[in-house]
Amino acid sequence: MRCNICGGTAFVDMPKRPNVRCSTCGSLERTRVAALYLNGQDRPTQGARILHFAPERGLSRLLRETAGTGYRAVDIDPGLYPHTSVERFDLCRDIGSLDVGSLDLIVHNHVLEHIECNYSVVLTRLMRALKPEGVMLFSVPILPGAFTDELIAGDRATKLAHFGPSLHVRRFGRDHLQETLGMVVRIPERYDLTERFAEDQLVEANIPQHHWRTFTGASIFRVTRQDLLA
Ligand SMILES: [Zn+2]
Repeated sequence: MRCNICGGTAFVDMPKRPNVRCSTCGSLERTRVAALYLNGQDRPTQGARILHFAPERGLSRLLRETAGTGYRAVDIDPGLYPHTSVERFDLCRDIGSLDVGSLDLIVHNHVLEHIECNYSVVLTRLMRALKPEGVMLFSVPILPGAFTDELIAGDRATKLAHFGPSLHVRRFGRDHLQETLGMVVRIPERYDLTERFAEDQLVEANIPQHHWRTFTGASIFRVTRQDLLA
């Protein structure tokens, strides 16, 4: 097994997920699934205009090296990313600053569960920011059961007490995937990673088999402007 982002061959445990974190670049299952696309059909060209939210270290480097100056790493809290230069971007307040039809690639993994505003509007505006041939790759934690969505007022301590340390204000549950995300963007009825990538490729990139045919937090949605349903 080999990390398809940095080439590292050693992996360490995450809570309840043995042997999944690349000990060199820190990549996780979802990051490496995204990299399968970005090393393949969705490889950015030099100068491509890219917006990368919550920029993972290895993926950020790969995209910056591939695309050059068109790459922008952004987050609501740039201080969390000492590894790279990150601009502040608040998806709830700054989303209107994105020009329609201006981006070649948008990447956001495990971001939508944190944003404290209407996620469907944010997702729609991100889709509209894509060029006609642009691509968005994204993932959210997907759990068994129902969808819940809750915003509360208060300071950080109040929110930590309410939501716990993850600060997930919404929960994407498999029971309602088509009625939530699936009403904003076209997502597959059933998830099957082996329709796009060979099984030996998935094994080599250390994508555990339980992520191949079930919607999980490692499922990467690949969408274009044509997939915007809202
Ligand atoms: Zn790596």
